[in-house]
Formats: sequence, structure tokens, C-alpha cells
Amino acid sequence: MGGLWVQLAVGQWETELVTNCLFCAIAAGEIPATIVAENDRVVVFADVNPQAPTHVLAIPRDHYTDFAELVDADPQLAVDVMAAATQAARQAGLDDGYRIVFNTGPNSGQTVPHVHAHVLGGRQLTWPPG
Ligand code: AMP
Ligand code: ZN
Repeated sequence: MGGLWVQLAVGQWETELVTNCLFCAIAAGEIPATIVAENDRVVVFADVNPQAPTHVLAIPRDHYTDFAELVDADPQLAVDVMAAATQAARQAGLDDGYRIVFNTGPNSGQTVPHVHAHVLGGRQLTWPPG
């Protein structure tokens, strides 16, 4: 999922899978990112437009559009993503508190359709969110 085969010329097919999803591409190492943790199932990397002193994203390597889709398809992987997000908060030393957010669907402001947990911390976070 999240990928497609490309035809380079008539009769010639590229043998590598070329992803068409930004976060699949980051997970595959096709697009650079500042990786802070990874294993065979999840990747945690720095958000390119941080909204707090610590702002990282935890994603599954497998492509799911949002958290609801992930929970339905692979509940254990959903737990793995949440565990990676929590571990990232611990590693960042966010002992005073932090927020883990899964924007889900258009009303949430989700812009990248590959499920990701935002981990935000390092400052006083306001509530309710905008
Ligand atoms: P959301 O709006 O919940 O879909 O969050 C998407 C997040 O991805 C935003 O916080 C963006 O700043 C972040 N983002 C977009 N492109 C990149 C990238 N190439 N590397 C790291 N973070 C990214
Ligand atoms: Zn993807």
C-alpha cells in the first residue's frame, strides 16, 4: 500500500517500488527525515514544522490513512505506534507533561493521509486546542 509501479518506457518497468505517500517514503528512506527511533514496525521522526520545542511524529511503516483505519486493520500495530510515541516522549525528557494527538479526518486538520501520532511537549500546552 502507498506505492505504485512506474513504467519508465514502453516495455521497461522499474523494478523498485516507488512510493506515492510522503510518510511511506520517509519510512522507506526515500525522503530524508530526522529519525529519532525506529524498528521493524514503526518510525519516529522530527516534524519539519515543529509546534513545540519537542514535536515528533510516530508512524507505522505500513500504510493506513488514519488511526481509525489502523485500529480496525491491525490493533496491535496501533498499540505499537502509541508505545513508540510514549517512549519518544520519555526519551525527550518530557517529565512535566506532553500531548499525543492523532488528527483524524478533515475536521481535525489532518493534512497527511498516513496515520501519525504527534508528540508535543517542552512548553505549557493550551486547552482546548484550536
Ligand atoms: P497533520 O496535519 O496532523 O496531518 O500533520 C502532518 C504533519 O506532518 C505536520 O505537522 C507537518 O509539519 C508534518 N510534515 C509534513 N511534511 C513533513 C516532512 N517531510 N517531514 C516531517 N514532517 C512533515
Ligand atoms: Zn503511507
